[in-house]
Amino acid sequence: MPTINPVKGTHDIIADEADVYAYIDYAFSNVAASFGYRRIVTPILEHTEVFDRATGEGSDVVRKEMYTFLDKGNRSVTLRPEGTAGVMRSIVTNKLYATPDMPLKFYYSGSVYRYERPQLGRYREFRQIGVECVGEDSAYLDAETIALAARTLQVLGFQDVKLKVNTLGDKASREAYKEALRSYFGGIIDQMCPDCHERLRLNPLRILDCKVPEDQELVKDAPKMGDYLSEASKQRYQKTLALLDELAIPYEEDDTLVRGLDYYGEIVFEVHCISPEGNDYGAICGGGHYEGILGTFGGPQELDVGVGFAMGVERVYSLMKELGLIDNLAETIDAYLMPLGEQAVDFAYRLADGLRGYGYAVEAPYKTGKLGAMFKRAERKKAKLAIIFGEDELAKQIVQVKDLATQNQEEVPVSGLPQYLADHLQEDGEGE
Ligand code: AMP
Repeated sequence: MPTINPVKGTHDIIADEADVYAYIDYAFSNVAASFGYRRIVTPILEHTEVFDRATGEGSDVVRKEMYTFLDKGNRSVTLRPEGTAGVMRSIVTNKLYATPDMPLKFYYSGSVYRYERPQLGRYREFRQIGVECVGEDSAYLDAETIALAARTLQVLGFQDVKLKVNTLGDKASREAYKEALRSYFGGIIDQMCPDCHERLRLNPLRILDCKVPEDQELVKDAPKMGDYLSEASKQRYQKTLALLDELAIPYEEDDTLVRGLDYYGEIVFEVHCISPEGNDYGAICGGGHYEGILGTFGGPQELDVGVGFAMGVERVYSLMKELGLIDNLAETIDAYLMPLGEQAVDFAYRLADGLRGYGYAVEAPYKTGKLGAMFKRAERKKAKLAIIFGEDELAKQIVQVKDLATQNQEEVPVSGLPQYLADHLQEDGEGE
């Protein structure tokens, strides 16, 4: 039988790696909660219209990357390509805005799907953790959201990331700037890639982050956003940067940063990190201030503003691995039981359950074996203690407990085991 591989661009996440993904999720949710966010879980599958409405026709995601298909009832449905649209749809569906307590603050975590060309750090199914803060327009919120992303990465152990920021200004500034770009790129579009031809038509801002090297050269001489910003947008941007300075969050201004989706305005940001081995996985986090999404779902206009970000879990994981940030996270067990003889196996089955009842991670083999093989297995499972017993020990209601780090071995009465583990494993923890 030929084996079946996972669908191109998807991947299995197994054991230690899966633990780290869960850890990233856990660390992120704690940070988000400390900023006053609540979790929201929206469907992976939405009506295609949700993304058509929210993301704007000029974005690559909507243009060509969505997993869209007809279900058996002939409805067009789409696997979400990002988290924001579903959260906005949900806010309107559930009238979550019907509260005096603005802003609404939600965080999410889950799989997203994009039909992209798989490469380093680029999958077709990947996971994002992210936040949306909706209903209030404030430079404080914009800066605080960036701080939340920075804090998450700090908690995960990152020390050296590059935060890039830019402003896309308010709508009028953006329109004026787009016009200037249209006229500049219009004159040289024949020298640019086919995607840029379409970008020029749909949203010339997107040309700024074209990755084709020849096009990047032409982008260098393009008009600058700074020259088209309204006074209000300039001040808004400067205020946000000052607020980042106050929290001592380092950043770098990058006026080619535009982000892939059309709903962004004012501040946008991305976080990058090159691995020690020189691998560039692309942005690990991207987000910014947005307007006009709630309205596309029929939400109230006066609350139609927000700020958010999404972080790519696969990329965060790959970097953590290369940076040595997960070495301490490998799963361990407290004790591995080593029964010698049939009767001892029977006892191990009950003892494991008893110790688990006290909250310890305990494993035992289901048949007896050679002591040497059991020690090897305990080592592979990164057990802290080996608990060894044969029929002689059981007759005396004692076991041998061996500390696998120090190799010290002690005789412990079975009845005293929970207390022994409590004392021993706690001391262990304090010493770390
Ligand atoms: P975006 O919604 O495009 O701003 O993406 C947010 C984050 O998701 C990015 O900063 C990446 O970390 C991650 N990401 C985006 N696309 C992919 C992909 N194809 N594979 C893995 N991670 C991705």
